[in-house]
Amino acid sequence: MRCASCDAPALIDQPYRGTHLCGPHFSRSVEERVRREIHRQLPRFSAGTVAVALSGGKDSSVALVLAHRYFGRRPTVRVVAVSVDEGIAGYREGTLRAARELTERLGVPHVVVSAGDELGTTTDLAVAELPDTVPCSFCGVWRRQLLNRAARREGADALVLGFNLDDLAQTILMNLVRGDLEHLARMAPHRVRQPGLVPRIAPLALVPEREVYLYARLHGLPFDHGECPHAAGASRNLFRSVVWELEEALPGTRQSLLRTHERLVERLLRDEDAGAPARCRACGDPSTHELCRACEYLSTVRVAATGLGAP
Ligand code: SF4
Ligand SMILES: [Zn+2]
Ligand SMILES: [Zn+2]
Repeated sequence: MRCASCDAPALIDQPYRGTHLCGPHFSRSVEERVRREIHRQLPRFSAGTVAVALSGGKDSSVALVLAHRYFGRRPTVRVVAVSVDEGIAGYREGTLRAARELTERLGVPHVVVSAGDELGTTTDLAVAELPDTVPCSFCGVWRRQLLNRAARREGADALVLGFNLDDLAQTILMNLVRGDLEHLARMAPHRVRQPGLVPRIAPLALVPEREVYLYARLHGLPFDHGECPHAAGASRNLFRSVVWELEEALPGTRQSLLRTHERLVERLLRDEDAGAPARCRACGDPSTHELCRACEYLSTVRVAATGLGAP
């Protein structure tokens, strides 16, 4: 099979576009999609700070490299990488090592925030205290909160997340199945600015997971292949296989889910209550409830561990 843009042998097929590309044209197609997405999701941004959430896995590593490539040449824009150490033994050490290696290679400042220091607990400890709760539910909520805090401390105008096309399609389908319109409206990329919440953007939104992986390999990026020991019970695994099967049978399903989400969000935001956004009474972060979900989980862990009440 030959590349659709030159005569070189093709390295990858893109069934959703009905095309094949060689290595250099594939790289260019990824970079171009990401450039356009940054431009679309963060319009008219020419000066300030951009924080990149860096886990040390392939997605956030590619997001950092491409954000650095996009903003790095502008002297008025500062790029900083932010990692969260949730406290997961045998997993997080390796990913943080890869994150450190990449930031040193790029010369990008790197901030690591620890759940133990900031929240007084870790994912491993909480797993032991709440054996009947799926770990990703509290771990994901805490990570989002800590990333936001760290980005805020850095004075960031935007927080870049490494979500790829598959991640976003899975999350959209998951929220649709659960009927969680609130979460659907709040998914990255953010359309509205909320006080206290650094707007999140997802520049890899149009890049499928396997293309992110191939890009990371082709460019020799250091990233960790480790699997989180708590990932097994996550409902995302089910949605991952459902989206994959749908995509195999109907190429373009993932892009179609994204387009549906875009249209839905416009309507949801139009219908939303225009009143002042509420704040969590414990941590002060934006929240639609009295306690944000991060504080709710924290309170549950404290009760389980010590018998003490809510904050
Ligand atoms: S897989 Fe779940 S528990 Fe593990 S780091 Fe991710 S969100 Fe946390
Ligand atoms: Zn080519
Ligand atoms: Zn809170």
